Amino acid sequence: MPIEEPQTIDTSKMSAGQRAAIELTEAARQVVQERTFAAGLFMGEFRLEGIAPFPSQKPDDRQKGEAFLQKLETLLREKVDADAIDRTGEIPQAVMDELAKLGTFGIKVPADYGGLGLSQTNYCRAAMLLGSWCGNTTALISAHQSIGVPQPLILFGTEEQKKKYLPRVAGGEISAFALTEVDVGSDPAAMKTRAEPTPDGNHFIINGEKLWCTNGTRAGVIVVMARTPPKMVNGKAKEQITAFIVETNWPGVEVIRRCHFMGLKALYNGVIRFENVKVPRENILLAEGKGLRVALTTLDTGRLTLPAACVGLSKRCLEITRTWANERTQWGAPIGKHAAIADKLGRMAANTFAMESMTLLAASHVDRDKHADIRLEAAMCKLWGTEHAWEIVNEAMQVRGGRGYETADSLKARGENPVPVERLLRDSRINTIFEGSSEIMRLFIAREMLDPHLKVSGAVLNSQLPKGQRMKAAFKAAAFYAGWYPKQWLPTGSGFTVQSSELMGHMNYVARTSRKLARSLFHAMVKFGPKLEREQLLLGRFVDIGTELFAITASCLRADQLSGEGRGEVVRLADYFCHSARLRVGEYFRQLGKNNDRIGYRIAQDTLKGEFAAMEKGIVSKS
Ligand SMILES: Cc1cc2nc3c(=O)[nH]c(=O)nc-3n(C[C@H](O)[C@H](O)[C@H](O)COP(=O)(O)OP(=O)(O)OC[C@H]3O[C@@H](n4cnc5c(N)ncnc54)[C@H](O)[C@@H]3O)c2cc1C
Repeated sequence: MPIEEPQTIDTSKMSAGQRAAIELTEAARQVVQERTFAAGLFMGEFRLEGIAPFPSQKPDDRQKGEAFLQKLETLLREKVDADAIDRTGEIPQAVMDELAKLGTFGIKVPADYGGLGLSQTNYCRAAMLLGSWCGNTTALISAHQSIGVPQPLILFGTEEQKKKYLPRVAGGEISAFALTEVDVGSDPAAMKTRAEPTPDGNHFIINGEKLWCTNGTRAGVIVVMARTPPKMVNGKAKEQITAFIVETNWPGVEVIRRCHFMGLKALYNGVIRFENVKVPRENILLAEGKGLRVALTTLDTGRLTLPAACVGLSKRCLEITRTWANERTQWGAPIGKHAAIADKLGRMAANTFAMESMTLLAASHVDRDKHADIRLEAAMCKLWGTEHAWEIVNEAMQVRGGRGYETADSLKARGENPVPVERLLRDSRINTIFEGSSEIMRLFIAREMLDPHLKVSGAVLNSQLPKGQRMKAAFKAAAFYAGWYPKQWLPTGSGFTVQSSELMGHMNYVARTSRKLARSLFHAMVKFGPKLEREQLLLGRFVDIGTELFAITASCLRADQLSGEGRGEVVRLADYFCHSARLRVGEYFRQLGKNNDRIGYRIAQDTLKGEFAAMEKGIVSKS
């Protein structure tokens, strides 16, 4: 946005690299139409319209997905040997064929284009099944469908593109998404892959190399992000990134190597080189220069697959842990009776419930409107879901003790139950890194959290603007805050009644804490001014508070809904979750005022300079 509206963010004091990154992502940002529930929390608003009562899956939609999901579950249990896939590093072709026959490659693709035409919620339920069983198969289906060709095509494809490619990808032709390069991890502004138009303008010639492209070594079609010639806007060259659909059998596309990782041993992930690849103009997605918008919007919904898979993984860990904590006796009692293990089990159950509630809530927004703005909700699900799933799988390993660390094959060879916690842990470690790392998710949420304030007061602090414009903006901002700020001190309730008094208390807590959050954020803005952008740890705490409030709300509303359907036991689970989340929120608030961020930062900078190099002595080092 600042490229067209430079008043929002002052980039004058940034390094060239930082400015390029900010300007590119800002230009691709979706403009906010209306604040969603999660966005409202940061502004002291507690608006439950659209999310209360909890928008549970409609019976007819559930019914529509049921037959497929049952078949998928049977296929996974009977034909997908996840340990063998992990051991061999290959997903057998027969499994791929069966998955394709079932329609797994086109779950969300409309039936008119050869897919199953199922809802986002049913897709998330499929991801839960996959995530509970086999990380490799999950990654194959997710990379294909959530970020590969189907999702951007459903959202932005022309009718011709849809007719040409959707039936192919829904039928089992594997697709992939290629953004990352050696210098492009979290920073697309550093992209080197280029696409130059041919003299007649009908084609583009792509040259470059993409790294870590999941499914890339097996894909028939890939969405490729490439830099296209800059456009002149107000006398300034504006960088352009464009998304192309590229067929891998076109001349010049070459898989250079397959990459191998700590987990996900059967990931068909590779380095792909594009050498003078001629791509027709009609294979551009959305429009020239809109590639980052395509990528970001695709990921908004695509990002829900990972937390859904994490729900499946967490449920599996819960099952494993519960069984073992009952079975295993040490020191005269089942280990589940020892408080240290019981604590893990309780948290595991509660966090799994919260993760599922958040994910289903966000998925329901997409089912209501496939263009719904779920940026914040999906990012919160991704951030919270992947971090807590990691904690859950890590604790499952701790509860299983030595057996947790032992491979399933080794357990089996000794005649024990081949419980694959070690594989689940290896396969899930990547979740907080790809599809937007946790650090980037916090920055992304922080940007959205600050958006209403940047709109009101960004121009006041922007030294790039003329004085007159800044003065005018200052008057407008003063008028806004004179009305808004005092409201943040008024007492408030949730304005919504849930059946259980415990849950009601938590909902009221969210309503009043969102005001405290809004006030605290405002105070931080006043204190730090434009430098707030550099306070990543502080911003992260605001983000974490907002995310916990979202998790509490989703859990309370879903527990209320389920208890009305005869599942009253979940109220206790949600209540325990909310109490734990409130303790975390309290701690984040305390750390807003009292922390040692500054000292830690200085220590880190001095470490970077080598001041503590002596700490690295006494080891075997290659350097
Ligand atoms: C198994 C696997 C599969 C993948 N699949 C695909 C795929 O299909 N398609 C694709 O395009 N890419 C894919 N990727 C790439 C993946 O999305 C990137 O690894 C990810 O974006 C992070 O980039 P990076 O590894 O280069 O880390 P970097 O960007 O170098 O970051 C390193 C660390 O610094 C942090 N960091 C970076 N910038 C900031 C900042 N401004 N503030 C604070 N912290 C920051 C990061 O969070 C991270 O912790 C895959 C990667 C792997 C390992």
